Amino acid sequence: MNIHEFQAKQVLARFGAPVPKGQVASTPHEAAAAFTTLGQPKAVVKAQIHAGGRGKAGGVKLVSSADEAREFAAKILGKPLITHQTGPQGRVVRRVYVEQASQIARELYLGMVVDRKAATVSIIVSSEGGMEIEEVAAKTPEKVISEPIDPLVGLASFQARKAAFALGLKDKQVNQFVALATSLYKAFWATDASLIEINPLVVTADGHVICLDAKMSFDDNGLFRHPEIRELRDPNEEDPAEIEASKYDLNYVHLDGTIGCMVNGAGLAMATMDIVKQAGAEPANFLDVGGGANAEKVAAAFRILLSDERVKAVLINIFGGIMRCDVLAEGVVEAARQVQLKLPLVVRMEGTNVDRGKQILKDSGIKVITANDMADAARRVVEAIGGRGANR
Ligand code: GDP
Ligand code: MN
Repeated sequence: MNIHEFQAKQVLARFGAPVPKGQVASTPHEAAAAFTTLGQPKAVVKAQIHAGGRGKAGGVKLVSSADEAREFAAKILGKPLITHQTGPQGRVVRRVYVEQASQIARELYLGMVVDRKAATVSIIVSSEGGMEIEEVAAKTPEKVISEPIDPLVGLASFQARKAAFALGLKDKQVNQFVALATSLYKAFWATDASLIEINPLVVTADGHVICLDAKMSFDDNGLFRHPEIRELRDPNEEDPAEIEASKYDLNYVHLDGTIGCMVNGAGLAMATMDIVKQAGAEPANFLDVGGGANAEKVAAAFRILLSDERVKAVLINIFGGIMRCDVLAEGVVEAARQVQLKLPLVVRMEGTNVDRGKQILKDSGIKVITANDMADAARRVVEAIGGRGANR
């Protein structure tokens, strides 16, 4: 789960990280009032969407009066902002963050991520802040420094100092950076975060090291431990199909292909995606309906995967263990009737009550292409959309 910049800054501030003072606003009037409340000669008004690149896209503006804050807020609120991270449709700006302006002397980069290779959280720094870090890493990898953090020890101060020196920080700024990085790591650990990105981390004209931007992502599987973080979820920023799926406790991830997949068990779901690819098409989703799914849940899953307009055919691959094939078949029939299914449907099932399941499908009058095994199922579903490489 991702959260907005203003929320990330609130979370980080709770752990002692230095962030500029600010106030969130959802109307131009509120933006003007926020400027007045801050009581500073200058403020920045920043579009709050779950995407970076706002600066370049015109979503960040330095303002010097309440009127200017109101005007800029009126200009961007309620409209989509298109950045290099949003895709061509952009993301609608529903709130702006009005923040006291900082005078920037240097823009640096500081990140913390779950580093799968090192099997730890790693701290990443670069002197090239304010730009896309992916680009810096691709063009000048020597300018991106990464250091794994021992989970038992935490961020050691020698590591934080090393990062500070790599950033060219001196004197008091080294200590400020060490304190800042330490509070970020505490926040990361305490909230089950998966990413914290401060881009840019700035040295201000008067020599302070502060977080000028903040991005935080969390491990969804850890959210039950953090109700206060879970509350920060913004459904406007999420895929409606994924929100619907989470209501039914379905593990659904939207992808770009054309084969809608319904599978039980994460391992089988992964294998199904692989075999669809091998047969020459792309999966439209990952969907694990889970072991103990009932007909209602199966029907919901079916509706969700069909809500994707790119789906050209459906592949159901179920191994009935705890999940019984007859229950699955009932759910599929119910959902297929509800949505008046017109797409080709390939079903491969095996396991408990498989004969009864097949009979239910047969008696339903729904057109079903039955497959003998997984490879056969993949072949048939790819055939159904016009063969290998179709609809790419
Ligand atoms: P992003 O473009 O979505 O990553 O948004 P950022 O929060 O990183 O802001 C983009 C850029 O706006 C920064 O790199 C800064 O150059 C500029 N900016 C943001 N806040 C301030 C500020 O308080 N003062 C000044 N002078 N520039 C700012
Ligand atoms: Mn940024």
